[in-house]
Amino acid sequence: MVGNALDQCLKCTICNTACPVAGVDPSFPGPKYAGPELGRLIRGPEPPADNVLDYCSNCRSCELACPSGVPITSLIRANKAAAYRHKRMPLANRLFARVDQLGRVAAVAAPLSNAVARAWWAQPVLARLGISTGRPLPAYHRQTFRAWFSRRPVRPAPKRIAYFVGCYANYNDPDVAKATVAVLEHNGYQVLVPEQRCCGLPALANGDEDQARKNAVFNLGQFLPLVEQGYEIVTACPSCALTLKRDYPELLDNPEAAELSRHVWELGEFLRRLAEEGELQSDFGKVPGRLAYHLPCHTRSQGMGEPWTDVLGQVPGLKVEALDAGCCGLSGTYGFKAGHYETSMAVGQRVFEAVNSVRPDAVVTECGTCAMQINHGTGVKVVHPAILLREAYSRRWPRGGEDAIRASE
Ligand code: SF4
Ligand code: SF4
Repeated sequence: MVGNALDQCLKCTICNTACPVAGVDPSFPGPKYAGPELGRLIRGPEPPADNVLDYCSNCRSCELACPSGVPITSLIRANKAAAYRHKRMPLANRLFARVDQLGRVAAVAAPLSNAVARAWWAQPVLARLGISTGRPLPAYHRQTFRAWFSRRPVRPAPKRIAYFVGCYANYNDPDVAKATVAVLEHNGYQVLVPEQRCCGLPALANGDEDQARKNAVFNLGQFLPLVEQGYEIVTACPSCALTLKRDYPELLDNPEAAELSRHVWELGEFLRRLAEEGELQSDFGKVPGRLAYHLPCHTRSQGMGEPWTDVLGQVPGLKVEALDAGCCGLSGTYGFKAGHYETSMAVGQRVFEAVNSVRPDAVVTECGTCAMQINHGTGVKVVHPAILLREAYSRRWPRGGEDAIRASE
């Protein structure tokens, strides 16, 4: 794949113009160099020793802009993995490549792990590990979503869904996962949560292709038999959806991964399809609120428009205005690394300004890390759309929609 992709580049530099990191940091030469050009050099007899690859946040905006269809971020990630065969991978990359293992340990130790991460005396330790002390680390829940779900009685229903939870919803924001289950069950689905590992995107983005491949093999082994039994796979995380759809076929290069990818749906995309087929439950209660919608880069790069604005548009009382302000700048683990904080915040500036000019009751976005960044940059509360839909379906609850928005803070 890499060889052919290198030859596809027309050297037009359109990708450089689309790159949010190159737009704020002149020391990054941009995706044209970090992808196709470095791809040639890095496989040569004397690989360059520069750190240019570390600038890329894996937002994939460059790929969307490329008129020649060059898989630029795949090239950058392959270049990164090749570079780390010649030099030692930084400790922060090795840690962030294993967010699943980190999450397991931090959840068992919560709430102590959360207090330690925020303690003043821990900040120098975090900095030495290569972790930024400019923003709070996400808090971990002692009871993960999957632990909660495993103790819950099975709710039989005629249609079935296999739910890919993702690390963030499992360890850091289990209420999003609970809302996802509630919305799917309300639409007549029995939800199955198979054994699963991190989708592998943090490993890929941090240059650890071997770890990403191991995760992909494990998840394929868990989910493909369910696809063969007629299950569709749904995830409420756009980055997990993108990884299962696009990266697994490339990483594993087998027909099984390609088959799996055809059955993966981001939750909003899945619900919009139900609506198009006249099968979405539309018994929404009124949810009063004026929301600003942020489109995550990894939803944009799936080329499916804005499914959540279509779905939320059906909820009475809810006014949703799209921000259309580009990348938030956090990009998964990228903005948590020491040395990336300022770049990450500079990239997010356009989004922060757009939020501040709209002055919404809350921001709505389907990406957990975009939510953290927007809240950090603006102080405005950010809510996952699944939580709003659960509220809209729950008219019997005494609380109104504004409470749903408040509860997500
Ligand atoms: S993935 Fe994003 S940050 Fe990386 S080179 Fe492409 S546009 Fe720039
Ligand atoms: S936009 Fe595509 S073709 Fe143009 S320089 Fe970038 S990678 Fe090459």
